[in-house]
Amino acid sequence: MTRVIFLGPPAVGKGTQATWLAEKLGIPTVSTGQIFRSNIDEGTELGRLADSYISRGKFVPDSITVPMVDARLSAPDVEDGFILDGFPRNLNQAHALRDLLAKRGVSLDVVIELEAPEEVVVERLQMRAGIEKRSDDRVEVFVQRLQDYHELTEPIATYYADQDLLEVVDAAKTREEIHEDILAVLSSKGLCSK
Ligand code: AMP
Repeated sequence: MTRVIFLGPPAVGKGTQATWLAEKLGIPTVSTGQIFRSNIDEGTELGRLADSYISRGKFVPDSITVPMVDARLSAPDVEDGFILDGFPRNLNQAHALRDLLAKRGVSLDVVIELEAPEEVVVERLQMRAGIEKRSDDRVEVFVQRLQDYHELTEPIATYYADQDLLEVVDAAKTREEIHEDILAVLSSKGLCSK
């Protein structure tokens, strides 16, 4: 039973690392961005609403995002653990998550912050933009997302550091090296055998 949060700026590689770790641990990844994108592709009401924020590089309001995560964490497949990718993204969401977990009588094991210099993040963004064609990866939108990350998401790192849950991993390395470093962190905490 492992409950992990991945923190880090957009395009740093959270999605890839979360997916690889989820496979290794045999638990699902819960990616709010991915849930929004699936809804956009399926043309649901939630998708239409979310897209009006996402395409402008804005956060989807907490009043939409938090109940969506609440519903997702009620599914049976997350009972044995999960990896959160892209949530929480501000302090209000972090507090809401604390309450969602408390109501289920469970707690977080570790928060992994992927840290890389801005030029590395921009380089990865340019690679992804060429492949995935996401509306929120356009340069002007990405600048807004990076700014929101610094202003709204980074304070969460301190919130979790104060609870002794934060582990910072150097994400300027290769994807494979980062994965190994994450496994080393988890294994040092007795959360996985390497
Ligand atoms: P991501 O795939 O995590 O980069 O998310 C893509 C976009 O979805 C973000 O730029 C936001 O507009 C929106 N989004 C994803 N997760 C959240 C969240 N926890 N709160 C608000 N908006 C979110």
